[in-house]
Amino acid sequence: MSELASKAAELDAGDRLAAKRAEFALEDDVVYLDGNSLGALPVSVPGRVEDVVRRQWGELRIRSWEESGWWTAPERIGDRIAPLVGADAGQIVVGDSTSVNVFKAVVAAVRMAGDGRDEILVDATTFPTDGYIAGSAARLTGSRLRPVAPADVPAALSDRTAAVLLNHVDYRTGRLHDLPALTAAAHTAGALAVWDLCHSAGALPVGLDEHGVDLAVGCTYKYLNGGPGSPAYLYVRRDHQDRFDSPLPGWNSHVEPFGMRPGYEPAAGALRGRVGTPDILSMLALEAALDVWQGVSVDAVRAKSLALTDFFLECVTAYVPQGRVESLTPSAHPERGSQVALRCDDAGKIMKHLVERGVVGDFRHPDVLRFGFTPLYVGFGDVERAARVLGEVVSGRM
Ligand SMILES: *Cc1c(COP(=O)(O)O)cnc(C)c1O
Repeated sequence: MSELASKAAELDAGDRLAAKRAEFALEDDVVYLDGNSLGALPVSVPGRVEDVVRRQWGELRIRSWEESGWWTAPERIGDRIAPLVGADAGQIVVGDSTSVNVFKAVVAAVRMAGDGRDEILVDATTFPTDGYIAGSAARLTGSRLRPVAPADVPAALSDRTAAVLLNHVDYRTGRLHDLPALTAAAHTAGALAVWDLCHSAGALPVGLDEHGVDLAVGCTYKYLNGGPGSPAYLYVRRDHQDRFDSPLPGWNSHVEPFGMRPGYEPAAGALRGRVGTPDILSMLALEAALDVWQGVSVDAVRAKSLALTDFFLECVTAYVPQGRVESLTPSAHPERGSQVALRCDDAGKIMKHLVERGVVGDFRHPDVLRFGFTPLYVGFGDVERAARVLGEVVSGRM
């Protein structure tokens, strides 16, 4: 056994999260490093979904809105996500896509920011949908959209800034941005901070309440393993909820939805972020998927995530010919999310060969190999194998 393979075995033996892998449907001969795009399937999900479809829908039918807890699922599941992002109960509602929740959050933030504030700052390197939606939110609210690099946000803030929309972890490079400092800077300028947690929730501590984040959104199909297209979530800090004025005030957020009244009067609390009828099948698949977090501390997940990415970078240095790849992911722990992005010539072709060899990452245009490390089901042996196969593939030994 090579030195790195024995080191991997040693690290796996000391890994207290190792047993979690058995809770996921994964073949032994596949290294799945794409959980930052679509999380793996928890084995408990198919049975639960079957029960929802056959019994709750098939037999109880309309009664399930009450008896199976369908109606209250958005808030109930929001409370399950809350501890994973450092929020007390009653501040998160699940539903709609991330894109739609970005829209609700940014428009509501501008409406809360008050008169004279007519500028929205957006992460210039953002996942595109956030930028598109923020642009539309700016037009609708008569604001100006200013794309800025996250590091330049403090200097760009002014008494005209209404809101700042930032990604906690950059989807492309894996860079972790300083949520506490950037939130504090926004507040000092009198602006609201809106965070997109798509690439951090379920991978590292977020601390929404602790750091006074105003509004946040995130998806549930990446590190939270909710399944393809599973609903996203919206966090509205408790002391903003009374002033949260949704741009999509659907009947599900009405104080009395079954009163069928012509006038809109918002409900209290997080459910003010609801819009229309929730997508129950997806939502209850997500609820089942969240069972894997029982007894798991986010700090333990973060510690393992950093150990995995450290070890991957060490193995890449050992196995990949020098100069063939270049890491775009910061080496400093406080700046690293849970993925490693490697710039590489022919990245698209290389990733195809990796997938054929059972190492599944993804390719981001034009030249990035992206590897996501999900501590609940990726082990150190997987990491060693992925780097070894990468070394073979880029050397033409396939
Ligand atoms: C994955 C991701 C999205 C996805 O948006 P959807 O509306 O769920 O498709 C949005 N923003 C960021 C930062 C993401 O990483």
